[in-house]
Amino acid sequence: MIEFNADYFDGRSAARRAVRVRASDTHLHVSGEDVEVAYRIQETTVNTPLARLQRVLTLPDGSELHTSDQAAIDALFGDRLPIATGLARLESRWSRALIALGAVALCTWAFMVFGVPLVARPLAALVPAGMERTVGREALASLDGTLCNPSTLAARDIEHLRRLLDRVLAGLDEVPDITLEARECKAIGANALALPGGTVIVTDALVGLDMSDEALSAVLAHEVGHVYRQHAMRMTVQTSLGALLIATVMGDAAAITSLAYTLPTALLNSGYSRTMEIEADEFAYERMRAAGLSPAALGDALEALMKSRTWGERTGEEKDENRDEKRDEKRDGEKGVGKANASGWTDYLSSHPAVEERIRRARSGG
Ligand SMILES: [Zn+2]
Repeated sequence: MIEFNADYFDGRSAARRAVRVRASDTHLHVSGEDVEVAYRIQETTVNTPLARLQRVLTLPDGSELHTSDQAAIDALFGDRLPIATGLARLESRWSRALIALGAVALCTWAFMVFGVPLVARPLAALVPAGMERTVGREALASLDGTLCNPSTLAARDIEHLRRLLDRVLAGLDEVPDITLEARECKAIGANALALPGGTVIVTDALVGLDMSDEALSAVLAHEVGHVYRQHAMRMTVQTSLGALLIATVMGDAAAITSLAYTLPTALLNSGYSRTMEIEADEFAYERMRAAGLSPAALGDALEALMKSRTWGERTGEEKDENRDEKRDEKRDGEKGVGKANASGWTDYLSSHPAVEERIRRARSGG
């Protein structure tokens, strides 16, 4: 009986599994971790031998065995090799090329989805505080030049917000340099936004929702959570990892500064990840408790923000239209013009049903 070791690719994922292949008269029996299959030898094709190259067996279901055991393959398929010519070989070569292409695409996708967020955290932590503040300053300048105007709130209202912020910051071990800025940003509606380096922006429309002080404090505490956990910087790193790497390698600080201009758009368009929102919520609960306030107020704030959008009352069908609108807004956002409704908190609320869960959680004590 002929036996050999091989790597098994199931044709659907890029995962490689080490297997042992035993050949009976009619079948190849493939066994290994999570694999226990048999294929008719008659329906298996094999690539032509090239010096030092692995032999590839293409199995009837599109899966493959790769092996460097030339002798075993020659013994098994030696007399069949001349048949494996022409169209059959061309086809198998094509399917291999497609599988390879798929594997490359899969790896790239996996890196962007899983790898980049993983490296973004330590990378963001390496960004010097001074540079983080620069990025924040530039991001604010970019907002002021596009989506936002000076606030029309009365000075005492802004002072009041700053006092609420001070209250949730009180008692923190390392208080980062957090400053509160009010802006009138019609395009982004009732909103609060944390920029790298510690600037928290509150829109006039948010104050216009007439939330309780406790709920406003919860919003501020949540934003401080984003600052504390460096979420904005992590987003900057994530959305521009390539550019950031090049800038670092080339030592081009100006390039890093220009990245900041794209940050508000990135934040407003895609918002933070769900994990980041939950981290910020947890930070807010902790701060609220420390300040003698109820974590449930975050639930009230989320609900008020949710109600500030009309989508909540729409039917499912109209929601779908809304989704199309949002796609258009995204495109507009990229040009830096953003339209009403597309925005951090509110956009997040519209696209994540998980907000109901967050409200429930806040109300059950955080
Ligand atoms: Zn948030």
